[in-house]
Amino acid sequence: MNRRQTIPQHLRYTINDFNRQFPDDAACLEHLMQQRFPGNVTYCDKCQQEHKHYRINARPVYSCDHCGTQISPMAGTIFEHSSTSLRLWYYAMYLMASTRCGISAKQIQRETGVTYKTAWRMFRQVRSLLSEPDMQLEGSAVEMDETYYGGTSKGHRGRPMRGDKQKSPVVGVMERSTKRRVGRVRAIATKDVTADTLLGIVHEHILPSSTVFTDEFVSYDRLGARVNEHKRINHSAKVYVMGDVHTNTIEGFWSLLKRGIGGVYHSVSQKYLQTYLDEYSFRYNRRDQGNLIFTSLLKRVAELAAPPAVRDRGMSPA
Ligand SMILES: [Zn+2]
Repeated sequence: MNRRQTIPQHLRYTINDFNRQFPDDAACLEHLMQQRFPGNVTYCDKCQQEHKHYRINARPVYSCDHCGTQISPMAGTIFEHSSTSLRLWYYAMYLMASTRCGISAKQIQRETGVTYKTAWRMFRQVRSLLSEPDMQLEGSAVEMDETYYGGTSKGHRGRPMRGDKQKSPVVGVMERSTKRRVGRVRAIATKDVTADTLLGIVHEHILPSSTVFTDEFVSYDRLGARVNEHKRINHSAKVYVMGDVHTNTIEGFWSLLKRGIGGVYHSVSQKYLQTYLDEYSFRYNRRDQGNLIFTSLLKRVAELAAPPAVRDRGMSPA
C-alpha cells in the first residue's frame, strides 16, 4: 500500500497543488513578499515610516507607494544573490519537504536540471532553514538518551570505551506526545557525554517542572537536582519498561535516524552531523502535518530573514 494515501485530505499538498499555487516566478515573489511583509506594508528607509509597496514590472522588486524607493523581498533571505529562479528554489523546497526521509542534492539536480554545484548550494541553504537551536520542550514528560555514530568499539549500548575517539555522540531530549500535541525532539551532536554536557542540554531545553526519564548511565546521576523528578530504567539489568519508566520513544527516533542516514546518505561526516539531525528532527516534529511541512518550510524563510530596513541602516540584525 502506498503510505502517502494515508495522509488525510486536508493535510495533502500534491505537485498539482504546487503548480497551481506557484505557476511562475512572479507568484513565488508575491508569496515571499506576503510572508515577510503582510499586506505589502513595510518600513521605508527613506520615508522613515511604514508604507505600502507595489510590484515593479520586469524586476523582482517592490516600490514604496509614497517615494518610490525599492526593496527586494529576497534581500536577507537564502535566495539573495542567487541567479537560480525563485520558482526552482520553491520547487527544491517542495521536493525536500515532500519525502518522508529527505532527498539528496543529487536528486535536486536531477529534478530541477540545475548543475550539481547549484543543487548542492540550494540543498545546504534549504537545510539551514531546518535548524531550531532554541527550541524548548514544553511537555511534562521528557525522555533523554544518547547514541553514537562511527567508531569501532562496542561498549554497553554503543557507548565509547576508554580511548575511543572515533565516536560522535548525539544527545537527544524528547517530550512524550499528549492528546493535544505530538511530542517533539531536539537532537544535538556533542563533543562528549560528560555530566556537564548533558546537564547543559537539560538546562537549555527542558523545563524544570518536567519529569525526565533516562537509563542508568552515570552521567545522568546529578540530573534529579535540575528537574521536578528523575526516573531511571536499568538497561544493564535488561529491564526496558517499568510502568511509565522507559526511553522507548527517543530510541524509536534513533532507529528512524539511523535507517534514514544509512539509506539516503550512506555515511555522515561529523561536520554535517548536526544538519542531518536538524533535518530529521524538523520533519519528525511536524509528523502530524502531512505534506504541509512544505508550508512550514516557507514560513521559516521569512522567520529567518534579516529585516531589510535594519540591514540597510548598517545595524546588525538581532
Ligand atoms: Zn518611501
